[in-house]
Amino acid sequence: MSTSQPSSGTASGQGTGTAPEEAPPVLLRNARLTGVHSSEDADRVDVLLRDGVVAEIGQGLAVPDGAEVVDLDGRWLGPGLWDSHVHMDQWALVRRRLDVSSAGSAAAAASLVGERLRSQPPAPGQPLIGYGFQDALWADEPTRALLDAVSGDVPVVLVSKDLHSVWLDSRALEAHGHGGHPTGLLREADAFAVSTAVSAVSEDQLDEWVGEAAEAAAARGVVGIVDLEMTLSVDRWARRVAAGTTCLRVRAGVYPADLDEVVGRGLRTGDVVPDTHGLVEMGPAKIITDGSLGTRTAWCHDSYVGMEGDPAARGVATYGREALVDHLKRASSAGLVPAVHAIGDAANASALDALEEVGCGGSIEHAQLLDPVDVERFARLGIVASIQPEHAMDDRDVADRLWAGRTGRSYAWGSLAEAGVRLQLGSDAPVAPLDPWVAMAAAVWRARDGRDPWHPEQRLAARTALAASTGGRTSVEVGSVADLVVTEIDPLTATDHDLRTMVVSATLLGGRFTHLTHLTLLTLLTP
Ligand SMILES: [Zn+2]
Repeated sequence: MSTSQPSSGTASGQGTGTAPEEAPPVLLRNARLTGVHSSEDADRVDVLLRDGVVAEIGQGLAVPDGAEVVDLDGRWLGPGLWDSHVHMDQWALVRRRLDVSSAGSAAAAASLVGERLRSQPPAPGQPLIGYGFQDALWADEPTRALLDAVSGDVPVVLVSKDLHSVWLDSRALEAHGHGGHPTGLLREADAFAVSTAVSAVSEDQLDEWVGEAAEAAAARGVVGIVDLEMTLSVDRWARRVAAGTTCLRVRAGVYPADLDEVVGRGLRTGDVVPDTHGLVEMGPAKIITDGSLGTRTAWCHDSYVGMEGDPAARGVATYGREALVDHLKRASSAGLVPAVHAIGDAANASALDALEEVGCGGSIEHAQLLDPVDVERFARLGIVASIQPEHAMDDRDVADRLWAGRTGRSYAWGSLAEAGVRLQLGSDAPVAPLDPWVAMAAAVWRARDGRDPWHPEQRLAARTALAASTGGRTSVEVGSVADLVVTEIDPLTATDHDLRTMVVSATLLGGRFTHLTHLTLLTLLTP
């Protein structure tokens, strides 16, 4: 007699040495199926996972030889979650830093720094790095004196939410060549130089931190990410998988700078990278065609409010029509599916024009402000709207100001869904946390922090939001991939708060546990 157990208590594939394809069958007892059962149903089913797929669903299923058996005790079993827009290296760095985004004033941010230095000081000689401040909304000024008052001899570097400013104490100003700077607040090129310097870590260190971030994502029910990191990451992901980071599927994108290399190697979107247990695929060809709302660089048909008459009042187009068409032709003829960053309505119209001319399909990333006639074009051309709902919660006040009179067609997810446009949800981590429940909450409720919903007419139905987070799956079916998540409550009837704080009991990738907690493991007898 012997027993068999899932890899470990709060398991992930990290470092266990078990190749994903060697996973034993798993029998999940007493599941309620998301999208099939309702909260009132007393029904429970058993679900058998074998060879990476859902092999059988029924009541009282027999235990196959060598199977792991886990009693879900009425918990909800649904399709595993994808985050379709992640910058994973950046996220791995940022999630280790102090989040000061909740600070409503410079003084409040400084006090968060003081608290962290008391509770969790960095190693001697190391700086404290924080991120997420939005000084545009503060009544007081961020000054180095405010930080000096709490930082002692620790250098402090705070990076703004939009990454275009950094705020330093006197120690950090000296360390970065700005000793004696009058305020300690650096902008644009100076800011980028400081944030690049504090982000420089060795590849080994970064791989370790990315592995931790991947495990944390798996613990939120994530089974896959589209990594749009700006450096070509496909080989690095192969290396990370070989080193034991096997808890996520990864589609690794490519930017124009590396397009030639990818084309030269014959890598097409969807190609599986060898020796990655099938976990790493070539992703889309990303191209950025405008800026962002917060920096007033998203390319719009109309001027930003307050900038009328300024030559930059309508934002910035970073690609001319011809160059964009050329790029799309080049990528798509090599088998790479385009992912076009477009935020303003003019950028979206231009991207749709180019995608229509080339006829290549693909996605538009962000699609934040849309001319109503373009909503229908997404549907007609089969272009995926790849949206990051939490951005709307972060930016609603900025949009109300800069896009006043236009917000009814901004973040217009309801209109897109109604027109039959395929949606996919993402976080754009590190801009928002890598947590698809947060994205779903924002999509379904369009509210946060106890505020009234913002343009509630543009809410997504829960089922639509779930499908947009799972590659189109809303329930677990026989024959489907065994990428699954177990939750304490039904995500389709969850409140905003319940979604944001969703308790994930287990995650499975190809029928193998990548996260497991709170569950009863039944002892299994093997012959
Ligand atoms: Zn992004």
